[in-house]
Amino acid sequence: MKPKILAVSKIHESALRKAQEFADVDVKLDMTEEQLVGIVDKYDAILVRSKPKITKAMIDAGKNLKVIGRAGVGLDNVDKEAAKAKGVEVVNSPEAATVSVAEHAMALMLALLRHIPKAERKLREGNWDRKIMGTELYGKTLGLIGFGRIGKEVSLRARAFGMKIIVSDPIMTSEDAREFNAELVSTEELVKTADIISLHVPVLPTTKDIINEKTLAMMKPTAVIINTARGHAIDEDALYKALKENKIAGAALDVYKTEPPTGSPLLTLDNIVVVPHMGANTNEGQVTAGMVVVEKIRKILVK
Ligand code: NAD
Repeated sequence: MKPKILAVSKIHESALRKAQEFADVDVKLDMTEEQLVGIVDKYDAILVRSKPKITKAMIDAGKNLKVIGRAGVGLDNVDKEAAKAKGVEVVNSPEAATVSVAEHAMALMLALLRHIPKAERKLREGNWDRKIMGTELYGKTLGLIGFGRIGKEVSLRARAFGMKIIVSDPIMTSEDAREFNAELVSTEELVKTADIISLHVPVLPTTKDIINEKTLAMMKPTAVIINTARGHAIDEDALYKALKENKIAGAALDVYKTEPPTGSPLLTLDNIVVVPHMGANTNEGQVTAGMVVVEKIRKILVK
């Protein structure tokens, strides 16, 4: 008998087709927790995106449940403790977003340095301002804090723009970095010398507020920060102060401490580009996220 998968979010069609090759797949969207608790006992796997929440009640009711697959990165909506207690595996697909996020970081760099959102706003308001002056990426030093999957992809793209790459990452060696034409430096040296700092670190106690009052004070006044990692990595009060007082030249943010950042004073600044946590949102990224997680589910269900 084929295993049964319950898809509770809108998963890309091609990933659903891949799942149907080895399982019976039911798609049930917009169900309440109570409704899901009522049906989950029939299924071997749950397939979900960032919503809905996969709660302890659902996991406890899932008598046949073996795996929860999250198509995407964050596992905030899955009760991992409850899954662990019941021996249910939890898999996700963080690798699927790599190219999308790397391209997004490049897009934010260019948008910030060429003032594209501001210029667009002005033109829509009838102001043909051809005096807006940008900065080239060519010849600039890009500092990548975190040189894992995404950081490396950013470095490859930045090289094509003629940038010099410096990186800080505790698991990197100088030789590893050189393979990517990058130079390994300390975070302090990176912060002091980079023209553009781009964050690609995971959420860890050691990466909390890695950009803070002290590191901001070390930056060049012409330097900018790009954050497509997590809001966790920046002390937003300190960033606001540094931007407001023009201690640094700008910032482009995809992610925030609280999402959405409703009422954040950062949104009132002129030298910042803000977008709503959309780094992974590409058609290609969504297809890959679904395909990768379905393959991980297959490996668990089909021995
Ligand atoms: P990864 O695990 O491949 O790489 C992270 C790197 O950071 C590792 O090499 C690690 O050694 C390094 N690191 C850890 N602590 C560090 C420190 N103190 N200083 C410098 N480097 C440190 O992760 P990834 O796939 O490249 O993802 C990076 C970040 O991007 C994560 O925070 C992830 O949540 C985020 N992300 C955001 C989006 C989005 O939509 N904006 C989508 C996917 C991933």
